[in-house]
Amino acid sequence: MRTAGAGTRAGLLAGVLIPAMVLGLCCRKGSGSGGRAKPVPVITTKTGVEMALIPGGWFEMGSAGGAVEEAPAHRVWVDSFLMDTCEVTQEQFRRLQIPDPSHFKGPQRPVEQVTLAEAIEFCNERSRAEGLQPCYVLRQPTSTWECDFDAGGYRLPTEAEWEYACRAGTTTDRFFGRGGEQTLKRYAWYAGNSSKQTHPVGQKQPNPWGLQDMYGNVAEWCNDWYGPDYYRTSPARNPRGPAGAKRVVLRGGAWDSKADRCRSAWRAGEGPRFHDICFAKDTTGFRCVRKAPPNPSSQSAPATSSARAGETGFLYGDVYLEHKTPGSHPESPQRLSAIVQGLEESGLLGQLVKLTPREAPPQWLTTIHAPEYVARVQTICRRGDSYLDSPDTPISASSYDVAVKAVGGVLSAVDAVVAGKVRNAFCAVRPPGHHALRDRAMGFCIFNNVAIAARYAQKQHGLGKVLIVDWDVHHGNGTQAAFYDDPTVFYFSVHRQPPFYPGTGKAAEKGQGKGEGLCLNVPLPAGSTDADYRKVFQEKLRPAALAFQPDFVLISAGFDAHADDPLGEMKLSARAFADLTRIVKAIADECCQGRLVSVLEGGYTPAGLARSVEAHVAALKE
Ligand SMILES: [Zn+2]
Repeated sequence: MRTAGAGTRAGLLAGVLIPAMVLGLCCRKGSGSGGRAKPVPVITTKTGVEMALIPGGWFEMGSAGGAVEEAPAHRVWVDSFLMDTCEVTQEQFRRLQIPDPSHFKGPQRPVEQVTLAEAIEFCNERSRAEGLQPCYVLRQPTSTWECDFDAGGYRLPTEAEWEYACRAGTTTDRFFGRGGEQTLKRYAWYAGNSSKQTHPVGQKQPNPWGLQDMYGNVAEWCNDWYGPDYYRTSPARNPRGPAGAKRVVLRGGAWDSKADRCRSAWRAGEGPRFHDICFAKDTTGFRCVRKAPPNPSSQSAPATSSARAGETGFLYGDVYLEHKTPGSHPESPQRLSAIVQGLEESGLLGQLVKLTPREAPPQWLTTIHAPEYVARVQTICRRGDSYLDSPDTPISASSYDVAVKAVGGVLSAVDAVVAGKVRNAFCAVRPPGHHALRDRAMGFCIFNNVAIAARYAQKQHGLGKVLIVDWDVHHGNGTQAAFYDDPTVFYFSVHRQPPFYPGTGKAAEKGQGKGEGLCLNVPLPAGSTDADYRKVFQEKLRPAALAFQPDFVLISAGFDAHADDPLGEMKLSARAFADLTRIVKAIADECCQGRLVSVLEGGYTPAGLARSVEAHVAALKE
């Protein structure tokens, strides 16, 4: 096996690449998804209003670098709830025969000039119209607007619910990542583009959970009294604002707001009666929420804040066995069978949250790969060629479909982690990905699963900075190339030093342009040990990663540095992978609430691979 494997890699080094074939391209349409996906379910209420089912979860509320009342940033749990996807419209007011107070008239425009009392009356009327128990107790003339959170009817969101829904799993100032005002214009009507008026709801791009106009158009009443110091003492679970105050919370900014108010953490208070007509009343509206319907899948607050620590996702499907390679090839379906069997025998499998593969829409593949390449892979696989680009990347007829599902599976894992369904996840997928280049297959790899996942975390979930940790014994040349001049992705690789395959990854390769310093290669000699690797992770990876402060962490988890591996000639024990996992996990905990997805790369003795994965997954789950 050692000889055969080494021979394969020697073949890689000496191999002559087949020149890229120029093929006629047909532009594949997206697989029906059209625009942005809505990863949370949307229901339509009896009165015809769309609401998103927001999953329960932890998030970081407030901001450390924003205004003083946004600090301190603190961890908050919010139970699952339903939230209107759009601001309440004037048509909705009229349908319930409530006088429309708005200044800028139009049935699809948001209602504004609305006092807190009017908003609350609307909530109660809408509850009655749908046979739900109203939440607000209105005691005239001295209304306290007391809210019964256990009632099933409509109410205003708590400030925590509003910010949690607005962020939709993101941690950057705005839910679309780090783009500035030019990007904000795509998501919000604000001073920079509103022409000094409101606009019909739902015209701008939604946030990752499908919520529209969370920034701009009209500022939204929340249910909480406004306490500028409230974050210092607020409870960690379902905070509901201070006991009383003069002002009520407004969120999201309005059509006349500067960009700074159109941020997830921005907060202000306003008098609930709002009778001062000199004030810009036509900037204030709202949207409704209500308790999530009883459903076994909807989450409720765990008993302790660390309950989620035990939840690790495992992404696997038998479809990944359908990428066939010749009998002697080290990258075989038996690798995955050994992993699954090992996890089963250790009893770990039953403790993991099962995640299932799906197809990756083509627009995600082309965030990293040339469209011509994607089309070429499809054509070559389907016509029955035996390899792609060079003999070391063998293929079978299903390989294109399997490779697309390997990418899609990893994207599913990213979704599950961002949504808080699991704390972290391991993806047992093949073919592997980290050698795949923009327009070329290489070293058993077809599509670069991890690189695409990094772009997906950024573009789909608005997570600005991604750290990729690659501990495969081979340097991830494809991943390095994808982000070499990119300041938003930090690529760290520890690997056997060149000229070992693929021949890249010298310490002097540090990134370029805006990405300079954001590529850290640590080449090690053959025979390096557990202690050598731990030292590199503690002394090189950890400080660099903490300085970078990622919003998401990916691991290119190859296990071919294990001592038994026929290709790597390193000396790692299975336990070393647990140690390395803990170091990376601590980085994710310190920087981004533990958000981490690990993706299988190499590892070529089934037994050593299975033991290493078991150690890795057990550490993820700790
Ligand atoms: Zn490898």
